[in-house]
Amino acid sequence: MGSAADFPKIDFTSNFQNIINNALSSTPETRQAVDPSTEELLYHVPLSKQADVDKAVSVAKAAFPAWKALSYDDRAGYLGRYADAIEANVSGLQELLMKEAGKPVSNAAGELQFAIAHVRETAKLRIEDDLIEDTEERRATVRYLPMGVGVGIIPWNYPVLLGLGKLGPAVLAGNTFIWKPSPFSPYTALKLGEIAAQIFPPGVVQVLSGDESLGPLFTAHPDVAKISFTGSSATGKKVMQACASTLKRLTLELGGNDASIIYDDVDVAQVVQKIGPMAFMHSGQICMDIKRLYVHEKIYDEFLAAFVQVVKSFKVGGGGDPEAFLGPVQNRMQFEKVKDLYSEIGKQKWQVATGGEPVACDGKKGFFLPPTIIDNPPDDSRIVVEEPFGPIMPVLKWSDEDEVVRRANNTNMGLGASVWSNDIEKAERLARRLEAGSTWVNSHFELSPYVPFGGHKWSGVGMDWGIVGLKGWCNTQASWVRKKF
Ligand code: NAD
Repeated sequence: MGSAADFPKIDFTSNFQNIINNALSSTPETRQAVDPSTEELLYHVPLSKQADVDKAVSVAKAAFPAWKALSYDDRAGYLGRYADAIEANVSGLQELLMKEAGKPVSNAAGELQFAIAHVRETAKLRIEDDLIEDTEERRATVRYLPMGVGVGIIPWNYPVLLGLGKLGPAVLAGNTFIWKPSPFSPYTALKLGEIAAQIFPPGVVQVLSGDESLGPLFTAHPDVAKISFTGSSATGKKVMQACASTLKRLTLELGGNDASIIYDDVDVAQVVQKIGPMAFMHSGQICMDIKRLYVHEKIYDEFLAAFVQVVKSFKVGGGGDPEAFLGPVQNRMQFEKVKDLYSEIGKQKWQVATGGEPVACDGKKGFFLPPTIIDNPPDDSRIVVEEPFGPIMPVLKWSDEDEVVRRANNTNMGLGASVWSNDIEKAERLARRLEAGSTWVNSHFELSPYVPFGGHKWSGVGMDWGIVGLKGWCNTQASWVRKKF
């Protein structure tokens, strides 16, 4: 095991292989993902099958006893060296992330920096036993023990952060970990696996790429103890169903339809500058982008006009455009889904405040769509009810607190929600009434490795990150000691 300083450089332009037992592992068949900025095919990656899954799981199972026997500090040491090694390779990873996810430079760089910091900070977390009772007769303690083989199933929108955000807590808690990236964005994960192979003992961290048939092979596998899944609510339900047959532990981080409520006492010019990126970042393809914006009727017109100006200033462009803020939609399937929503504009006679026509960026190839704001559509319209996961959103008018709370909560989703006001007490009071895994006052999607993150209702089961997330990678054990017979 080398230190990050003498860490061998990775080739980020070829040789994408599975990482099994710390070795590169090929498959007879391969597949390619598409660069969403150009629609060109990217590099070949493995197409893993049952035999690859069986091998990786048996290696992970064999590595578990020795890994869990290490102290937290020892395991944290590995994570720290891993973070250093990732940092030493950050430019290659960034190029790759821009290509596979269609991310402009700023977004790709931001994801990598946050992800590296996340690994470092996660390594500082510790779970202590809870001493519940300690008398002359007996002692009762609650302990948190690693589960065994964990699998992280990851979506395409934040392939690095969401993968490392599961890997860190999983291995810190003493589990071994297999990373299954999305078929749409497998490249950074495979290279992060190659880096991990230089740091961790064999079998502790492995990465397998494949098509959409790969995830179910893991959820069905009898030797996988826990699935930590991030993706859509529809797939989350299938994962939960599949895990039932072997009673696997699971965490589900699912879709969102985050509401943001703006009071009439805000400084409009300031707030639109903050809300703009929080609504359109990564072209709306973040689970907790603001997706429904409720603006008090007294400031509605002024707010909408200012918000439109901010959104119009966002440059749309591919990974190669250093000034671009918004990239393409990540894949053709999602592109067609979002375009279908744009096609409702004319049919439903929605008022368009900006954007609207789904024309390609400068007539070039790529899954580009113009950032679009729909002005006060009916509450039951698709643009309000559904998670668009693209650069289109509604702005809605409100006047009464009870009414806006009811409308914000009137959804199966419950990931995040925010309230904006100069009166913090009033805003907090309203935020406490919102049904969501995270609520914010005068902010949206603030995150920390120390704070748990997850959803209520159909937005998730359990939470990732922080001590709560770390405990999610553990079985709870009640430990009783009788001191006298
Ligand atoms: P998806 O559900 O289509 O796929 C997610 C992952 O699951 C992929 O790796 C996919 O290959 C795998 N998968 C597909 N079918 C499977 C099955 N039957 N069993 C096991 N695995 C299977 O999601 P997506 O389109 O990649 O991502 C977009 C969705 O993810 C959005 O709804 C978004 O809100 C959500 N998301 C949620 C969070 C969160 O933290 N709550 C974060 C990011 C994205």
